[in-house]
Parts: sequence; structure tokens; C-alpha cells
Amino acid sequence: MTASDVQTTAEIAYFSMEIALDARMPTYSGGLGVLAGDTLRTAADLGIPMVAVCLLHRRGYFRQTLAPDGEQHEAPEDWPVEELLEPLPGQVTVAVAGRDVRLRGWRYEVRGCRGHTVPVIFLDSRIEDNDEAARAFTDQLYGGDARYRLAQEMLLGLGGVRMLRMLGFGAIRRFHMNEGHAALLTLELLEEQHRGNGHNGVGEHEIEAVREQCVFTTHTPVPAGHDQFPLELAAELLGRGRAPKLRDVFAIDVYRQVLRSDDRFSLPRDALDHDLMLNMTYVALNLSGHVNGVAHRHGEISRLMFAEYSVDAITNGVHAATWIAAPMAAVLDRHVAGWQADNYSLRYALAIPLAEIAEAHAASKRDLLEHVATSTGRRLEPARFTLGFARRATAYKRPDLLFTDLERLRAIARRHGGLQVLYAGKAHPADEGGKALIRDVHAAAETLREDGIEVVWLPDYGTALAAKLVSGVDVWLNTPLPPNEASGTSGMKAAMNGVPSLSTLDGWWIEGHLEGITGWSIGDSGAGAGGAGTSDDEALRARDAASLYDKLEHAVLPCYLEGGDAFLTIRRHAIALNGAFFNSQRMLQQYLQRAYA
Ligand SMILES: *Cc1c(COP(=O)(O)O)cnc(C)c1O
Repeated sequence: MTASDVQTTAEIAYFSMEIALDARMPTYSGGLGVLAGDTLRTAADLGIPMVAVCLLHRRGYFRQTLAPDGEQHEAPEDWPVEELLEPLPGQVTVAVAGRDVRLRGWRYEVRGCRGHTVPVIFLDSRIEDNDEAARAFTDQLYGGDARYRLAQEMLLGLGGVRMLRMLGFGAIRRFHMNEGHAALLTLELLEEQHRGNGHNGVGEHEIEAVREQCVFTTHTPVPAGHDQFPLELAAELLGRGRAPKLRDVFAIDVYRQVLRSDDRFSLPRDALDHDLMLNMTYVALNLSGHVNGVAHRHGEISRLMFAEYSVDAITNGVHAATWIAAPMAAVLDRHVAGWQADNYSLRYALAIPLAEIAEAHAASKRDLLEHVATSTGRRLEPARFTLGFARRATAYKRPDLLFTDLERLRAIARRHGGLQVLYAGKAHPADEGGKALIRDVHAAAETLREDGIEVVWLPDYGTALAAKLVSGVDVWLNTPLPPNEASGTSGMKAAMNGVPSLSTLDGWWIEGHLEGITGWSIGDSGAGAGGAGTSDDEALRARDAASLYDKLEHAVLPCYLEGGDAFLTIRRHAIALNGAFFNSQRMLQQYLQRAYA
């Protein structure tokens, strides 16, 4: 294939460190990548001229196996790149610490429901001419040390823009950074301005020209989620080197200028620890014309965190046709014509007979329990109430909240026909606390088993398993400590499948929750906002656990066990009220109106 075979008319370039496109491609770790994939599928459906850029991640994130006690083991996840992607012609180079790293591209095509396609370009440094260290730069998602990660972000941001230009994408008017990992693309755009003005320095005019092109979506209020690198390391990798080039030196100067030169660009006073750090969030904030958080509450929190910037909120959504399981999709096909092309019409699920919703859900539950049996040997009871909890294993998500008071949980299960709980999720390899939580849940599961409460942690959480879980459990449990969950999207997937959430009021659930109508809340939404200090965490935990038990005992289980229409009506509301809004079509249309326009 030649460069001219690549359709290069895209106007919006979407940059993401991870993208989930195909269950065979482990080019994602979690919600950020799934959101990117859903965004691109939606752009293809709507015919939006978009192109996406990501790193190849030849060795994936990691494959998780679990020992009987819940200890997590990690292995590389190699995948057949050559079978799934098409090689693109040409190469670009990025100087990392003064040494040129060559990059080539691989193309994946996302095809929409009306045939429009969105190309995704994966950058690959595994090229003969690169030295061994450079060849490994595009191997592992979120792997390595700070130097490795910064090199990756340079390849994504600088290399990504260069690759698009080399391939002939000449109509791009917006560069969308899906999280700060791609923030260095602003540097390449500044350099383009610098070249364009005859190398006459970079001033307000050039910076404004870059801002007009850039859109930044921030995804987490958790400080560790905001990438930063020591300025010294940044200077070494971006600038000084064996054979410094003028523009590399210039690059660092620009950052000093943008980050510190005058009031307009200086760092907020409460962020002094950024002083000797290159903070990707601030780079993106400073150089983007539109900045947004991913749910209304997250927008509010982000405006507190970044008080000197204007931060919009566009609530996340999920791709309905991807996430609604086959049995429920067939029901929708019968009753809501065209729901895939027009997700707003999911509203009319209100007219679907409850019995059909019951049957479709029962089919997905059987499918899920079959999967549990074949993958773990554990046989769960199809008629028994089943909770699902699947997300990254990390402290603020509190996967162990359900086990705060085992006696109370036992009593509830005894009185209400038993309980089954399915878990899944990986802990980042460096997150020891997250790994300990997986072991804690295993330990609780062991003692509860004697009392007839089945708790199973399914290994190697990914999109295929997510699709089974969100459609097959009875209620989706979510217990983040507010306000740490920016949005969350798995509960949206569950809702579209008629699986209501039981969740703390955080992220999207503040918007999606109608008590006893679309699901149930745990605790209230106010207490955590403004930042829960660690000393309060235990008190909040006790309060939220009590609320969780109360809701299970007095609302959720009685409703489920009553066996009439009440629970099915909640399933139907989840599809109609939440599905019609928390979808990626509505989300992307809001990006079009507010960020891309
Ligand atoms: C949807 C999804 C997520 C994100 O869900 P959260 O609710 O944000 O945790 C993460 N991982 C996978 C595999 C998913 O499908």
C-alpha cells in the first residue's frame, strides 16, 4: 500500500495512550481506552471525519492470573499485530535524549453502522535501525519507569503529529488529547507555528494559534493520575543530547515560557510542587482552547483543582451497539427500530413488555454463569440474586466495602435467599495496595463460602468479560469514595442491558440515579465533595458500608425477591432513561457542539 491509499480527509485527530478496539488487541488497560474505542466507533457511526493515534503496545498491558489466595501474577500479552493491522508506508523520527527514534505506523479501520470509516494509527518503534532500548518504547502500556513513560509520551505526542503530517493529513483543525499522556503534541504544534513564522520565536500569537487547535479532556481527580516528570529528565529527553538540535533546545524554552513566563501562564499558587516538574495536565491546560471533565461533578472538582482555567463538563457515554448483549439487542430490534443509529430512541424502551426484558436478561445471566463454570469450575445458581463488581483494583474504589461487616452480610443473605457476587479487575503492577485488595476479597470469599455466599473473582478482566458481566448480573455494584470517580462507564453499559446500579453517588451516577427507579444510591453525594481527607475515610467507609447493607436488605433484595413487576420495571427504566442519555452518541454530539465546532 502507498501513502496515497490512506484516506487523509480527517478534521479531528484523537490522541490516546490506550484504545480498546478489538478483544484480540490488548492496546488498553481500562476505562480510558474503552472510552476511546467507543468514541471512535461512534465517530464512524456518525460519519465524523476523525483519525486516531495511539502507541502499538506490542506486549499489551498485562495478562492477569490469580493464585488461589488472590495473589496477582502478570505476564506480557503478545498479540498478532501483523494479522490484525495493516502496515503503513514511511517512517518518522523523534529525538529522545538526542538519539533519533524511528517510528512506523500500522492502521486499523473502525467501520460505522453506515459504512463510514475512522482510521486508527498505531505507532511502532520496533524497527531494525533503532537501538534495543528504543525498540522497546512501544511495547508495554503503562510499563517501565519515568524515563520509559516520558519517552512513550514523546513518541505519542511529537511522533503522532509528525506521522499524521507525513501521511498527508492536511485538514486537521482539532487535536483532541484524551488525558494528558498526549500533551506533548502541543509542542509539535508550537514548533509548526515557529517554522511557519520563519523561526521568529514563539509568542502570544503562536500560543493562541495552538490553543485554537487543541481540546483536552482530563479524566481523574486523583493526583497520581496526573502525569508529571522531573524537569531535569524532561530537559534530558526532550532537549539536550549528544547532538542537540536547535528545535530541541527551543522546545524546553517554550515550556519554560508557557508554564512560567507571566501571570497568564504561571502555575496556580497551590500547585508549587509542579515547579520542578513537567506536568502534562498543566501543559495541556495551558495550551488547549477547550478543556473538559467527564461528568458534571468531575467538572466541578476539576474547576476547584485548576481554578485558573475554564473547565467544561461533558459526561461520558458508551457505545450502545457494542455493549448491549445479543438477547437484549434482539428485543430492542423488535420494539425500537433504528436504536443503533439513533440512541435517543432508547427512550422508547419504556414500551417494551416486561416479560421480554426478563427473558433477555435471563439468557445473558445463563451465558455469564456458563462462562463462570467453564473458566473457574464454580457453579452458580441462575435463580439466585447476583451482584457484579468489575473495575481496576485500587484503594478508592473500595472493592472490599461489601465485606466491612461479614456478620451483617451473612444475616442479610440468610434472610433473603442467598447471595452471589462476581468480581473482576486488575491492579496496576506497581499498585501494592490494589493487589492487597484482591487478596482481601479472596480471603472474605473463603470464609463466606461456608455460609452459602458465593464470591468469585474472574481473572484477566477485559472488554469481552466486561460485556458478559454487565449484561448477566442482576445489579451492578459500585463503591468509589466520592469524589474520586470522575465518571465510570461500566454502570452505563449495565444500565443499557437492564442491569441497574447500586452505587455511591459519584461520577455519572449523580446524574443517572433516580432512587428506586433507575437503581439505588449508597450514602449521599455531598460528604466527599471537596476532597475526603484520609482521617475521614474510615468514618465514610463505615457510613457507606451501613448504607450499602441497608439498601440491600430493605430495598434491593425485597424488590428482587418479590418476583412481580417492580424489579423488571427498574430494569426497563435503566435501559430507557439511562441508555437514552449515557451513550457515546450524545457525548460525541456534545463534543462536536462545544469542543470541535
Ligand atoms: C467499561 C470498562 C471499564 C471502565 O469501567 P469503570 O466503570 O470506569 O470502571 C474498564 N475496563 C473495562 C474492560 C471495561 O469494559
